[in-house]
Amino acid sequence: MFKEEVLQRFLKYAVVDTMSIESIADKKHPSFEGEWDLLRLLEKELRDLGLSDVELDGHGYLLARVPATAEGLPAVAFSAHVDTADDVKGNGVKPVVHDYKGGDIVLKSGLVISEQGNPELSQYKGSKIITSEGDTLLGCDDKGGVAEIMTAVSYLVSHPEIRHGEIEVLFSPDEETGFGMDFFDAKRLRSKAFYTVDGSERYVVELECFNAATVKVHFDGVSFHLGAARGRMVNALTMAAAFINAMPQAESPEATDGRYGYYCAQQAAGTATAMDVTIYLRDFDYDSLLRRIETLKALGKAIEAIYNGGRVNVEAKISYLNMGEAAKKSPKAVHAIFEAGKALGQPLRTEIIRGGTDGSRIAEIAGIPCPNLYTGGHNYHSLYEWAALDAMNDSVALILGIIGQWAEK
Ligand SMILES: [Zn+2]
Repeated sequence: MFKEEVLQRFLKYAVVDTMSIESIADKKHPSFEGEWDLLRLLEKELRDLGLSDVELDGHGYLLARVPATAEGLPAVAFSAHVDTADDVKGNGVKPVVHDYKGGDIVLKSGLVISEQGNPELSQYKGSKIITSEGDTLLGCDDKGGVAEIMTAVSYLVSHPEIRHGEIEVLFSPDEETGFGMDFFDAKRLRSKAFYTVDGSERYVVELECFNAATVKVHFDGVSFHLGAARGRMVNALTMAAAFINAMPQAESPEATDGRYGYYCAQQAAGTATAMDVTIYLRDFDYDSLLRRIETLKALGKAIEAIYNGGRVNVEAKISYLNMGEAAKKSPKAVHAIFEAGKALGQPLRTEIIRGGTDGSRIAEIAGIPCPNLYTGGHNYHSLYEWAALDAMNDSVALILGIIGQWAEK
């Protein structure tokens, strides 16, 4: 029902160059000029749909509101990011629409998306699959989400008889850099729930992500002429190495999966006199994250005791929180997804994200639940990326279904 529109929108957005640049994202937001092109295009399209409450701010956050058609209903928000990743070339995308009949998909560059390596393909026989020419990514992450939200908005606007509360739409830049929500004032949102449309496989809904903390450890040694160092010098590098080695190897990213959390030494810089080490902590359980912070503080004390005269300072900062925490407090946001799925005959299932989302930042700042919905794309951040039009169509239906659920008594 939405296939033609969501396809045309996606093809239009996919060719706009929006590859964000992580190395400058803390100073320049959006980090890449091209992101403005897509944001301005979307701003114009939203206005052309007849919306008047449309604001593109100086940091590239495009917030629009579809007015309520009935009184007393809660507002809900849908969000997607306009930038694409830079793991492989993300600009100069030339999308290709395949009539998929089964088997491998051979891309123009010669790369092959194999049926064997992509078992999800088989359910889309007889339908359309979208890829790049194989020399860039496709950018369904997250222009698929953008196209799906825009298609849903366009449908709502042309069907004023549908009962719904105010719908907020947020398109944001620079998600892939990790600085996506850093300049957004979440208090601008009026919504009771914030759905990111930034997932992947059809029917998969993500309700939980990591709790995350960044721990900065500073080591002060005692410097001395190396020729007269015995009993006097304390080497900060040695202290840092002992500290990192003491972290449990069984709780590292390379040794964990599922719901297991970890410690990860991420960066080290310095000299024998002073060292700075950055450690990432991740866990689905908040108390376990706090336990790891305490462990590192105790470890700092132990290293100080072992290296007499040296100093260790451990400082922890929470970066984002498991969005599942906010969802527990207001279950309606999740309930609406599964009720909508049931009504649409979509066999939804949940998965956990071993990472964060833009939504998890909102969950932390605004305290509202932020589930992540599927877009229908696969093999993100790679030349083998593909998207299924049937899944994109279903995503639009799910968005509208969720809006319908919030309009129920
Ligand atoms: Zn994404």
